[in-house]
Parts: sequence; C-alpha cells; structure tokens
Amino acid sequence: MKVGVLGIQGDVSEHVIAARNAMRFHNLQGEVTTVRRVEDMKNLDYLIIPGGESTTISRLMIKSGIYDEILKMTEQGELGVIGTCAGSILMAKDVVDDNRVIPLKLMNISVRRNFFGRQRESFETELEIKGFGKYHAVFIRAPVIEKCWGSCEVLAKIGDKIAMAREGRFIALIFHPELTEDYRIYKLFFDL
Ligand code: GLN
Repeated sequence: MKVGVLGIQGDVSEHVIAARNAMRFHNLQGEVTTVRRVEDMKNLDYLIIPGGESTTISRLMIKSGIYDEILKMTEQGELGVIGTCAGSILMAKDVVDDNRVIPLKLMNISVRRNFFGRQRESFETELEIKGFGKYHAVFIRAPVIEKCWGSCEVLAKIGDKIAMAREGRFIALIFHPELTEDYRIYKLFFDL
C-alpha cells in the first residue's frame, strides 16, 4: 500500500506522521510519501489532501499538473482520495461561495468555506461517526458540507450540516484527523 500526502501547503507533515502511526497502530504494511510533483504520484493507492488554504492548494495543484494526474488516476479507479478541511473543499463538485477554488469535483457534495467564522472561532467537539460512534474532532476555520447527493453517503453531521461524507473510494471531512491520536479515520480510508 502506497499512501501520498499532497505536499503543496498546509498540514502536510502532520498527516505524514499520523498516516504512519495509523499504519503501525492498525498493523498495516505500506509507505507514506509526500507528493510535490506529478512523478511522486507513481503507483500511489491513496492520496490525502490536507487542510490549509484551499485557494493556494487549488492554484498550485493545477500549476504542478497534479490536478490532471489525480483526475486521470481516479477515472481509471486506481486512486482513493481523502480531503480533510481545505482538502474537502477540493473534493467537491461545487464550492458555493468562492470561484477562485477550482475543485476536483470527485464527490457529489457542495461546500461553503469558513462556515464557522475566523481562526478564533476554531473549536473541538464530539461527533457521532457512522460505523464508529463517538469521535473527538478539531475544527479550524472549517468549511461545511451543505449538501450531499447521488451515491454520496453522509457519515457524520454537525447540527443540521454535514461534517463527513463518503462516495466510493472518496472521503471528505471538514475537521482535522491529523491533530488527534484517534486513527480510525485513516483505517477506514485505507480499507476502502
Ligand atoms: N479556511 C480554509 C479554506 O477555506 C480551510 C481551513 C483549514 O483547512 N484548516 O481554505
């Protein structure tokens, strides 16, 4: 199993460490690498798109050619992708409030950026995630998933909004799994 963390901007090293810990914790064999160029995507089975600044990640992902490579590999069914926080914005079919972000449109979800306010409105809360119950989640200038349709399944809600969704080999979540030591989300992803 080869896992890549998109290394353009944001919580890159945190995800690399957490993904390695998750493998060790769950007894999975594999390697975790940082993806900065198209060549780094060779033989990848899973790609993690971290939190950060979605406008920046979007722009540099297109410039580097990684955007097109993700589309190619996912069309061929070769790649599972998880987008966390800013990464979830890039997974969406539709970003309702910011046309500077060019999303990958991998999932039937629509997202709104900075839904919970600015940095100081960051918070932690307990979520109920389908399949594994209570989960302590960290939200930092989080977007929200407003809608999920087609074959997309809601895995967790926050109030009347969506915090986590899955569609085939794709997952989007609006919080930061790399900042806690609960590795169940990585395990779920690596099992897809
Ligand atoms: N507010 C950021 C954005 O819209 C996301 C924040 C995060 O990833 N922690 O891109």
